[in-house]
Amino acid sequence: MRKQFITSIMSISLFLIACGNPMDDTANNAATSETTANMATDTAIEKTYDVKILDNKKDPTCGMPVTAGVSDTAHYKNKVIGFCATECKAEFLKNPEANIAAAELIK
Ligand SMILES: [Zn+2]
Repeated sequence: MRKQFITSIMSISLFLIACGNPMDDTANNAATSETTANMATDTAIEKTYDVKILDNKKDPTCGMPVTAGVSDTAHYKNKVIGFCATECKAEFLKNPEANIAAAELIK
């Protein structure tokens, strides 16, 4: 008797789970797709930093020309500063006042 009761409860639970799942799955799939799309967009932006949007000629931290490749940028006093690496950006932001001259600003 007790076993039958438990089986009934389990059946009802499974039924509820089965009913609830399709909607949850749709929501999850939508969220997953969106995340994937965002990640793809981020990657695309990271790969296509256009030198034209930058206001500096050189990575102020390591002195590398921005034309050699920019993987991160920072805004400083309305200027867009390009850096070869996130580490260079972090280093610059520790003391931008002292490092900004090395960036050789264009405008
Ligand atoms: Zn650098």
